[in-house]
Amino acid sequence: MEAEYDVIIIGGGAAGLSAAIYATRAQLKTLIVEQLAPGGQILNTSDIENYPGFPDGVLGPDIGVAMHKQAENTGTLFAFDTVIDLHVDEDVKVVVGEEREYTAKTIIVTAGGAHNKLGVPGEDEFAGRGVTYCATCDGNFFAGEDTVVVGGGDAAIDEGMYLSRIVRSLTLVHRRDELRATKVLQERAFATDNFNFKFSHVVKEIRGNGGVDRVLLEDVKSGEEYEYPTAAVFIYIGFHPNSGFLQGKVPLDNGGHVITDIRMQTDVPGVFAAGDIRQFSDRQLGTSVGDGITAALSAYRYITEG
Ligand code: NAP
Repeated sequence: MEAEYDVIIIGGGAAGLSAAIYATRAQLKTLIVEQLAPGGQILNTSDIENYPGFPDGVLGPDIGVAMHKQAENTGTLFAFDTVIDLHVDEDVKVVVGEEREYTAKTIIVTAGGAHNKLGVPGEDEFAGRGVTYCATCDGNFFAGEDTVVVGGGDAAIDEGMYLSRIVRSLTLVHRRDELRATKVLQERAFATDNFNFKFSHVVKEIRGNGGVDRVLLEDVKSGEEYEYPTAAVFIYIGFHPNSGFLQGKVPLDNGGHVITDIRMQTDVPGVFAAGDIRQFSDRQLGTSVGDGITAALSAYRYITEG
């Protein structure tokens, strides 16, 4: 069987579009299969101030649309479809979509993922106006302010430590009286002056006027509810990669992330992964772009060198 494409990229976010730009410029016939509009998470991100080359920042939708256009200009083909399965055992790989099947010599999986949400009133309303899932991205918008972090895992503590160097204070709200995070991270947080804790508490509502200015907390032991002032709520209650269709096809870690080597190669020859779906991704626009480029170059080498 002849493959229709040299490369099929599953997902049209920053990693996928970057991979496509490099693959097409290497004269590889490249298809992006995407179920939503190309651009990915950056389409839902307002100001991006940490992507190199934009000293005054850049709007997420602007850079998402520009990346999409650049991928189109270099000859990337697009299919609007939802991938439900893969067949990766043979030289010619099959990507099974809801609409049809596609074949390629290589696959780059850049299907991304999503942050778990609290599901409380105000979370969606204030998204991008005080509610955020990324201190590395948004911490600087709240420099010198009092903030709240939700969650008790490694991500909450890790990103809380990053935040503690920027904000005046942060209060970590955790639903139990014990953190899940590794001990070494916990100790680091306990030793940080402006890192405060509210154990056995949950955020019931996020409130504000234009932007976040307070949360409604509940002390789950006493049942008491009270308002607590904050300029922002950083939510770290887990992240789920969009990797359901990869179960049993490529090795995944316990959290469902795709395991790759530093060349973005999975255990399966000709199958690569890049961006947020990948184990140890830093989940930044810049790192996703880099991952995507590396994956495309690895696919190029796989095709040309065997
Ligand atoms: P995680 O380990 O699953 O922790 C999620 C935290 O959110 C838990 O403390 C959980 O509480 C809490 N939570 C979950 N649902 C909640 C809800 N609806 N309301 C309130 N709280 C809720 O997730 P993660 O911190 O994102 O880490 C994911 C993986 O990445 C882990 O394997 C972690 O080790 C890794 N990671 C490592 C580092 C590092 O090593 N520096 C940094 C980031 C991430 P309970 O504890 O009560 O369940």
